[in-house]
Amino acid sequence: MARPAGTVQGTVPQLTYWSRPRTWPRLVRASWRSSLQFRTITVSVALSGLAILVVGVYMSVSIGNDLFQSRLSQVLFESDRATSAAQSLLDSSDATDRVQVQNLLSSARTSISATSSSRLVAVLRVPGQDPSTVAPLDSSTFGQSTGVIGADLRTEVQANDGDQFWQSVTLTGNEAESMPGIVVGSQIAVPVAGRYELYIAYSLQDAEATLLFVQQTLGVAGVTLVLLIGVVSWIVVRFVVTPLRVAAETSQKLASGDLAVRIPEKGEDVIATLARSFNGMADSLQSQIRELADLSEVQQRFVSDVSHELRTPLTTIRLAGDVLYDQRASFPPATGRTAELLHTQVERFELLLSDLLEISRYDAGSVELESEPTNLVHLAEDAIDSLRSLAESKGSDLRLVAPGGYLNADVDPRRIRRVLHNLIGNAIEHGEGKPVVVSVDSDASAVALAVRDYGLGMSQGEVAHVFDRFWRADPSRQRTIGGTGLGLAIAREDASAHNGWLQVWSSPGAGSCFRLTLPRTTRGRLESSPIPLPPDDAAAIGEAGHVPGMSGGPHD
Ligand code: ADP
Repeated sequence: MARPAGTVQGTVPQLTYWSRPRTWPRLVRASWRSSLQFRTITVSVALSGLAILVVGVYMSVSIGNDLFQSRLSQVLFESDRATSAAQSLLDSSDATDRVQVQNLLSSARTSISATSSSRLVAVLRVPGQDPSTVAPLDSSTFGQSTGVIGADLRTEVQANDGDQFWQSVTLTGNEAESMPGIVVGSQIAVPVAGRYELYIAYSLQDAEATLLFVQQTLGVAGVTLVLLIGVVSWIVVRFVVTPLRVAAETSQKLASGDLAVRIPEKGEDVIATLARSFNGMADSLQSQIRELADLSEVQQRFVSDVSHELRTPLTTIRLAGDVLYDQRASFPPATGRTAELLHTQVERFELLLSDLLEISRYDAGSVELESEPTNLVHLAEDAIDSLRSLAESKGSDLRLVAPGGYLNADVDPRRIRRVLHNLIGNAIEHGEGKPVVVSVDSDASAVALAVRDYGLGMSQGEVAHVFDRFWRADPSRQRTIGGTGLGLAIAREDASAHNGWLQVWSSPGAGSCFRLTLPRTTRGRLESSPIPLPPDDAAAIGEAGHVPGMSGGPHD
């Protein structure tokens, strides 16, 4: 039985599963398969997370580019201004000796630092000029400047007088930390000393810090947004899933036979429409089932009443018939035969009535078993004894094989005797004078009884109907006993009332085997039978080209 979700028993194993990380993938897979809520939330969170990630990366890249571009423009402007200011200072000088030129260049550098807001300045003499005794030496304030300034940049600056060139570089800060930067290079002319390359380096640390801050903000906002989307979709999905779950549980209860359950109808939305149509369907189903149940009850009562009512007149007819039958010798031959015919038909009629009453009792569910410890081998012996004269008249040899079954089983002996009588009687009737073997065997939980004949047998199609009411393979076949067509139907009801099985194997021309398996105790459940079916001698028959049929699997 399905346990309602959320009970204490349902939650505890879940918790122990979650506390074992190795079982997580299995749990996630199981939740994915079983929970609509989990699937919806996972998909919404994953898709919105992906969308936020794409937007976040795009924003971060474009803000980074923008920051760089604006800093670059600013740097180029500042360095241009600083270079022009330094060049004006140099041009207006009349320095001639080395010390003066050196001082002049120092002043120019100070002016550059002041104008460009960068203290990272390198002044390198353009190579390839005539050696000069007054030319000041190269100087740089950003460490390994020649290593920082790329050869490409230098070549371009050396080749193009008057133009500005720039390059992205990695600068080393005061505490030896790396930071991004830009170096802008151009040429300046120093009086007397010749042309110099001027490089001004600018740090991008501020821009980088701004970018980092923007990225962090975007990250935090993105994660918060994804969490929010998860919570929102959980709430929304709950709105939809809860009524669906109620509908699923209700339909499950309805399917298991509780016809009175209904889904609460609230509001006017699609869920309410679903609930209304479901309830309408359940109403009509309930009324139809009630109608059918009433009808079947009426039918059952009719059969039972008619059978009862017929009993009294039939007893009178029987008494009168018996009188005529006893005196048949004194009647003319034709009247004597009529008296005999009347006698047999009245007997059949009585049998039919008692069978009908029995089956109507099963239909009405009013059958009470009177179980008592019973020895099945003894029951089989009794049944064989009572049918021996019939078997002899048909030329059949009745044999009992009982390797087990001597220990008592809790069964209703009257009903089991009736089943045995029917099975053995049928085997004799359809056994064509060949032997009939009754086997009894048992195991720890079950006791079984099989009746095997080697007579006409039945085709697969016939076997499928053998337990149907009023069904007979060949109604015109001469019968000595029974013949109502209800015998096996009642036998099967008797087996079911004991929680047992009545099964058949049969093959045309090779005979039949009916097997009755009963649990040893009234509350026992059957798992298997101690006697095999098809019977052991059936394998050779199957190979010989017959079409065996099986019917009557475990039934309740
Ligand atoms: P009845 O024997 O009163 O006709 P049953 O319900 O006992 O009714 O059997 C139904 C039919 O099943 C029989 O008429 C017969 O055709 C077929 N049948 C039953 N037992 C055998 C058997 N051992 N061999 C062949 N046919 C059988």
